[in-house]
Amino acid sequence: MNRKMLIGSLVASYLLMASLSLSALEKDDVDPEASTGLTQHKSATGQSFMAVSANALATDAAYAMLEQGGSAVDASIAAQLVLGLVEPQSSGIGGGAFLISWNAEKKALVHYDGRETAPMEVDENHFMSAEGKAMSFFKAIVGGYAVGVPGVVKMLELAHEREGKLPWKVLFEPAIEIAREGFAVSPRLHKLLRRIPKVAERKAITEYFFTKDGQPLPVGHRLKNFDYADTLERIAKEGSDAFYKGEIAQAIVNTVRKDPKVPGKLSMSDMASYKALQRKPACGPFKQYTACGAALPSSGGLSVLNILGVLEAKGYEHWPADSEQFVHLFADASKLAFADRNRYMADPDFVSVPTAALLNPAYWKQRADLIKNTETVAKFPAGEPVSSALVSSETPAFPSTSHLSVIDADGNAVSMTTSIESGFGSRLFVKGFLLNNQLTDFSFTPIDEDLNNIANRIQAGKRPRSSMSPFIVFDDQQNVKMLIGSPGGSQIILYVARVIANVLGQNDSLEAAISRPHIVAKNNGSLVLEKDGFSAELRAQLSQWGHVVKERDLNSGLHGIYVEKGIMTGVADPRREGSARGR
Ligand code: GLU
Repeated sequence: MNRKMLIGSLVASYLLMASLSLSALEKDDVDPEASTGLTQHKSATGQSFMAVSANALATDAAYAMLEQGGSAVDASIAAQLVLGLVEPQSSGIGGGAFLISWNAEKKALVHYDGRETAPMEVDENHFMSAEGKAMSFFKAIVGGYAVGVPGVVKMLELAHEREGKLPWKVLFEPAIEIAREGFAVSPRLHKLLRRIPKVAERKAITEYFFTKDGQPLPVGHRLKNFDYADTLERIAKEGSDAFYKGEIAQAIVNTVRKDPKVPGKLSMSDMASYKALQRKPACGPFKQYTACGAALPSSGGLSVLNILGVLEAKGYEHWPADSEQFVHLFADASKLAFADRNRYMADPDFVSVPTAALLNPAYWKQRADLIKNTETVAKFPAGEPVSSALVSSETPAFPSTSHLSVIDADGNAVSMTTSIESGFGSRLFVKGFLLNNQLTDFSFTPIDEDLNNIANRIQAGKRPRSSMSPFIVFDDQQNVKMLIGSPGGSQIILYVARVIANVLGQNDSLEAAISRPHIVAKNNGSLVLEKDGFSAELRAQLSQWGHVVKERDLNSGLHGIYVEKGIMTGVADPRREGSARGR
């Protein structure tokens, strides 16, 4: 990977964003949580345990739990609570998450679903005007309108009940201490306060993140968050009820419903009835491995598996990871997967999704046969794993989000992706944390022009389709081989699939694969390559084969662990400010 590419790509998309009208941006594919430049490559090795997350303070909190004999779930909880403080733009207790957990002793893999749900007062026309027009995306993301019931606290509590070793309240200690003592505002947080639009639009968020004269807090400013410390102390003592019932819940509901500009519909009963769920992870064969990712309502697991299945059916290992043939193949495999994702995938408790058929290697082979060697098509149609009247939707995801990977001393593993949706979520800041705007992951329009229902339309109590793709890959002896995941909107699927393919089929180290430039094709007519990552010759060749090639910053935050002969290597993406620490 070209260093200049990362250092030089700081602001282009944001400058572009600033210069465009908001309505133009709705169709644009920019990442508000922009690239903030290269941090040094960060990797660590260990034989006993390992933690990798988006911020060194969060990694240290996880490490401290592991050192005390805590489980991977314990360490992940401690890390999440710190991330909500030091990387508040990305995730926190006001958001949702998917956590895949491997219990080494029981040889059991569980998928915890802490996805936000739509309030019971919404209906299918929530994002539609009386004239039948979809609301502007930017209107929906700021304020109360797209706030779903937060799922992180319940999900972490459920995972802890089943797989925690340390007492619940111990896991809160690092975050409470840092919140009271203060932490240094990081370069990334500072830059994003500058660049993400409409952050300083509400009083509470402005007072916390900006100086009195309206400037984003400078890098290194010691930021304390007493409200967050108080909130965590309550949850540490009373459990999740402190969050979902009573004073904290009331403050959340009031903030959403009484938002002066765009009030939402979240109620106390939505809060009190939230349930974190356990689901069967989406697993599939890949070469001699078994790869397992988040199940629906995340489209991540199924889509990554579909891409890997098609790549394998095409014998992709034959091509070097930086060759035009591989880029072409990966792009077309991705487009095929997105065609099916957009048509079929949504909350399985509301729509019937042909999951088994989509995971059938014979189906992957059939889809792979559509890919030609030196020619692409603008868009692939969805396949017909079973007949369905559902129709496609692609909602723009404006990424924030965070991924962490942990293996503990007993070999238990956690791969968890967590999000408040956009950078700084809804911008509603209450009790020391930000609320999500995850309802924008639903399709804004409920039906297509032929009046067919869209699978991912908004409905009361439904969970919006996600792209989060926390993955654990096992070898043929059921040993953990690799943990991986990333933020990045719907590009997450492509970041994760490529890294797994590069490492397990093209001899890349995890570090090399994470650093490689990204390839993004979402079946929307273009092939986006990470800026300055590929040669002009390669781009010209791909154009000749019919790809509409574009270049732009692609801002992953891949945090993974690779295990070989008992040695764990943890790697943090150089595009963000994460760290790996193991022993
Ligand atoms: N809200 C997105 C999802 O759940 C994630 C956004 C992001 O990665 O920034 O798929």
